[in-house]
Amino acid sequence: MDAPSRPALPSPRDLPSVDRVLATPAGQQAVDAFGRAPATQAIRAALDEVRACLLAGKLVALPAPDHVALAATDALERDARTRLRPVFNLTGTVLHTNLGRALLAEEAVEAATRAMRSAVALEYDLATGTRGERDDHVRELLIELTGAEDATVVNNNAAAVLLVLNTLGLRREAIVSRGELIEIGGAFRMPDIMARAGVRLVEVGTTNRTHPKDYAGALNEATGLVLKVHTSNYRIEGFTKEVSARELADIAHAKDVPLVNDLGSGTLFDLARLGLAHEPTVREAVAEGADLVTFSGDKLLGGPQTGFIVGRADLIAAINRNPMKRALRVDKIRLAALEATLRLYRDPDRLAARLPTLRLLARTRADIAARAHELAEPLAAALGEDFDIEIVDCVSQIGSGALPLEALPSAGFAIRPAAEASGGRLNALAATLRALPVPVIGRIAEGALILDLRCLEDEQGFLDSLAHVGGPG
Ligand SMILES: *Cc1c(COP(=O)(O)O)cnc(C)c1O
Repeated sequence: MDAPSRPALPSPRDLPSVDRVLATPAGQQAVDAFGRAPATQAIRAALDEVRACLLAGKLVALPAPDHVALAATDALERDARTRLRPVFNLTGTVLHTNLGRALLAEEAVEAATRAMRSAVALEYDLATGTRGERDDHVRELLIELTGAEDATVVNNNAAAVLLVLNTLGLRREAIVSRGELIEIGGAFRMPDIMARAGVRLVEVGTTNRTHPKDYAGALNEATGLVLKVHTSNYRIEGFTKEVSARELADIAHAKDVPLVNDLGSGTLFDLARLGLAHEPTVREAVAEGADLVTFSGDKLLGGPQTGFIVGRADLIAAINRNPMKRALRVDKIRLAALEATLRLYRDPDRLAARLPTLRLLARTRADIAARAHELAEPLAAALGEDFDIEIVDCVSQIGSGALPLEALPSAGFAIRPAAEASGGRLNALAATLRALPVPVIGRIAEGALILDLRCLEDEQGFLDSLAHVGGPG
């Protein structure tokens, strides 16, 4: 008990009622902005917090009712921010899986928006007035762009691989080289997918070398497919040997077994046109004799998250009959965006200007460095004297497993604490930038926060966001 001589602490009994807080001007504004039920709930929570502080002896005075209303409004505003927020990707990785991979072309964004607002002829044949197929909207385009006989679309490439394995290999065997049993991020491991697809994995060769005779020796009555996996996210160098897709097609076909080539990223555009190394195109994989080729929609292709299976018409028909196809299908919004994206490929000359993924990959170091020079001063002003900012050359990467060893010369900023170097301050700065209205995501390397400007196109938006450094996020 308190000694009688000390002033009495305020009692929770004296707290304003929820109704009284609601009746304040700030309370009314909260109701207008967020609705009565959310405002009431937030005020109740704010009052609970004050009550807890009073009981813990942490408050010496009762807050005024409008202060409680403002605290509730703050909480409502924090909560109203979208979780899935736009960010500035200054990591230097163009197709960053954790940041959502490809940015879509304006044409795709418009098509998706139209599809969201309206009924669409998704599974409806406008010529005959009868039921249509949802894949038909992109089927023709995929056939045209890949040279394959037929094509189908699913949720992503992992789904494409799963569906192919399950359709061709259920309770049968799939032959894969030990050098191609890859793990892709997010717990997608080829052996695990095989098991879930109901397929027995038959490993052949060794990690670094697999020969034609390894495959030939493993083919038997129970073989459902031979799988070739484009080991896109790493490379084994030195004493290595892999069997080419063309050779493998001959080996598999001699025993009437289909060859499936999982290209991973795959591309419909020869990256050599941008001065990059050659990444196998889907058309090449088809021409090399694969019976089915699988690849992603949101990697190098630059579209929405989707997965493709292209190849022999009879196998595609079997895949479309698999009941799992229904569980892996794509919705109208993505199909609309995908159709618009694929249409852009009909004009390869203008593709790099219209498709953000290729546009970002095509940016030169000199162009990016020029932007860095323009932005250095406002950035320094925003960060204040605590940090030194240096314009540096850096190296971007494509990401998502495409051409992992391809270094894209780029430019950006290296930001270091001005006084005695301290990793803590660097981490604090990174956290500050992540807390901005449009968070800025860089990477910490060698005692500096690196901001690679390759993927920065909205420079004004970047400066507007930086203006909030030091202020409330
Ligand atoms: C990325 C990748 C996948 C998975 O594709 P998602 O579109 O991410 O599902 C499968 N195989 C390979 C070789 C890949 O690179």
